[in-house]
Amino acid sequence: MESECIFCRIVDGEIPAVRVYEDGEHLAFLDTNPRSEGHVLAIPKEHIKTIDELGDEQTAKLFIVVKRIAESLKQKMGVKGYNIVSNNGEIAGQVIPHVHIHIVPRYEGQRSSAGFELAFPVDAKAKRKVEESIEK
Ligand code: AMP
Ligand code: ZN
Repeated sequence: MESECIFCRIVDGEIPAVRVYEDGEHLAFLDTNPRSEGHVLAIPKEHIKTIDELGDEQTAKLFIVVKRIAESLKQKMGVKGYNIVSNNGEIAGQVIPHVHIHIVPRYEGQRSSAGFELAFPVDAKAKRKVEESIEK
């Protein structure tokens, strides 16, 4: 537990949150700045900053939790699809340095036509490099 970390403090019950899933090693709760209704953050309880610092088993277990939440959103909330996002590192826009996976539901009538194009427009230089590699 890192006393300065908001997510560790949520795990500890010092900061309130709407908890939607919990087991011995994980917690999932609603994001207070939801990008859509039911926007969930799934975290390991252990204070680890980025996905690459997780053990393999921890990574696998976290993604199984993410899958369970996605299943539940579909079955119980009529969610048609969802985006899974994880910002890792300040340079990637990570604000809270405790691993978290965003699960953002998409509902009928709220189609995200851009997919991840909005956040990640195609990088022309990187695209040329891929095309060159394919041609070789
Ligand atoms: P990021 O680190 O950029 O991937 O995003 C951190 C996310 O945590 C943001 O979407 C915030 O809205 C969310 N957040 C920050 N504080 C809280 C809190 N106390 N309870 C729930 N969500 C939070
Ligand atoms: Zn933490």
